Amino acid sequence: MTDHVDPIRRSAIMAAVNSKDTGPEVALRRMLHRLGYRYVVHNPHLPGTPDIVFPSRGKVILVHGCFWHRHYGCRYATVPKTRTAFWEAKFRSNEARDASNLKALRKLGWQVQIVWQCQLKSPERLLRRLVRFLGPTRRTKNGDL
Ligand SMILES: [Zn+2]
Repeated sequence: MTDHVDPIRRSAIMAAVNSKDTGPEVALRRMLHRLGYRYVVHNPHLPGTPDIVFPSRGKVILVHGCFWHRHYGCRYATVPKTRTAFWEAKFRSNEARDASNLKALRKLGWQVQIVWQCQLKSPERLLRRLVRFLGPTRRTKNGDL
């Protein structure tokens, strides 16, 4: 991969791309909404401002970009060939923050499910898993999707 954008600038670009209301995350929320789930988006009062919060169920879904959050074994979790040390430090810091947020959420009693961005490419399989995690709604109680 050739890359002529310097790491800081690229970091800003990719942060914007991967920040709130990314396409796949919005698509996932729409699907969950159609299945009858109601949620709060990007709640700043919880550790790490979790992406999708289901207050009445005590559950949280975090949508993680594979590159930034290091989805191990995933082909999108690449390491840029230039300034490798910079990226490795960045990734370590992201991972530490993720782990700390996860721990804090669990300590507050939230059940947390992580959705990797690449899993949004198989929405049916993903939704089956999320319905199992979230529990039924009137629309999903028979297990039909
Ligand atoms: Zn992935």
